[in-house]
Amino acid sequence: MDDTVCAEKSDFLAAAIHYVDMAAEKLNLDRGTLKVLKEPKRILSVSVPIRLDDGRVEVFRGYRVQHNLSRGPAKGGIRFHPDVNLEEVTALAMLMTWKCAVVDIPYGGAKGGVVCNPKDLSNGELERLTRRYVSEIGIIIGPEKDIPAPDVNTNPQVMAWIMDTVSMQAGFSVPSVVTGKPLEIGGSQGRNEATGRGVVFAVQEACSRLGMDLACTTAAVQGFGNVGYVAARLLSAMGCRIVAVSDSRGGVHNAGGLNPEDVWAFKQKTGSVEGYPGGTAVSNAGLLETGCDILIPAALENQITVANASSVRARLIAEGANGPISAGADRILQERGIAVIPDILANAGGVVVSYFEWVQGLQHFFWSEEEVNRQLRRRITESFRQVWAVKEECGVSLRVAAYMLAIDKVARAHRLRGLYP
Ligand code: NAD
Repeated sequence: MDDTVCAEKSDFLAAAIHYVDMAAEKLNLDRGTLKVLKEPKRILSVSVPIRLDDGRVEVFRGYRVQHNLSRGPAKGGIRFHPDVNLEEVTALAMLMTWKCAVVDIPYGGAKGGVVCNPKDLSNGELERLTRRYVSEIGIIIGPEKDIPAPDVNTNPQVMAWIMDTVSMQAGFSVPSVVTGKPLEIGGSQGRNEATGRGVVFAVQEACSRLGMDLACTTAAVQGFGNVGYVAARLLSAMGCRIVAVSDSRGGVHNAGGLNPEDVWAFKQKTGSVEGYPGGTAVSNAGLLETGCDILIPAALENQITVANASSVRARLIAEGANGPISAGADRILQERGIAVIPDILANAGGVVVSYFEWVQGLQHFFWSEEEVNRQLRRRITESFRQVWAVKEECGVSLRVAAYMLAIDKVARAHRLRGLYP
């Protein structure tokens, strides 16, 4: 990683705040409200000791940050990754506040993470780590307080352990403390695919406004995990040619098109898309510069930086990941006329269906997958329409428009509730 990339990485939080400043200036937001909106409300840092399978004790560091609760209880995923740090979790919590506001669901933003490499842990160790971390953050989570969900390296099984840990401590089942649960214990139809599906709904909206016929386009997807795979599969089903995909180990390219389901099956067997026989190898950096119409970064933050933004060849970028484009790169892409659907809109499908799951759980009444997908499309399409309208009216990028829409909603809620005491 070169110095520019390193500096930009540590600036993830600064970038999130930079967009808040830009939007606040356009909105003429008063300084007091702006100060409140920039600060995380609550930061919890916890020690997570567990016994490893060989009998040794290891101690991990975990965080849960709640950014702003003006519009409702906190909502946000939990990430298990070696690079997790407090700045990153804080930035991600802030993004959740804006994301929930953009798609108009009644939540504030939160995020959690544990500094660990889950690939080095056995299933039993991962379960103990999850249960102990959740016990430690138990003082601030709950169905009316803060509702975690999956993020990088956490999945429905991890959500099940979270639900069970909270339930055991309460003495009764508390399914609505977490979303992204397996269907058998109160999960929602369509939740697993919701983020990738939402990305595709947003891409469809963008294409129709940019005069792009989705069925005649090509796409490259960085990060072939939950979000990236689902987006690739659904786009492919609509006729879009998937020319490259990658994961943390490497990537595969085929200008004639890859079959995402075949690549996924290969990854399930081997642990990576690297070495997939139906294409040639491409590095993660190379994938971002691949010739394609639509680029979907769906891995981690700061993948497109000032170092490679000038080499991106796509016409449209949909941020499946949170913060994959640095602030400097965002400027370059805008100057080059490349449209960017920002993370707080593009990947909001996950939190939208998490909200549906929470609502269904609280009502003990569950919807069909068709109903979930219909309501998801309605939310993403309507939010996209609103963001596009602000962009046109104010002459700003889609990102600044989305921030303006979000910050205005949170600021209004904050002002109506007033300052306590
Ligand atoms: P995941 O763990 O299922 O998949 C992540 C993928 O990215 C994996 O294939 C991994 O190998 C790959 N990856 C990791 N580092 C990489 C690198 N340096 N280069 C290329 N690939 C790399 O995680 P996910 O749930 O799909 O999340 C991906 C992104 O989407 C994250 O930024 C997350 O915050 C965001 N997101 C996820 C959800 C959700 O519901 N899961 C919702 C909103 C946003």
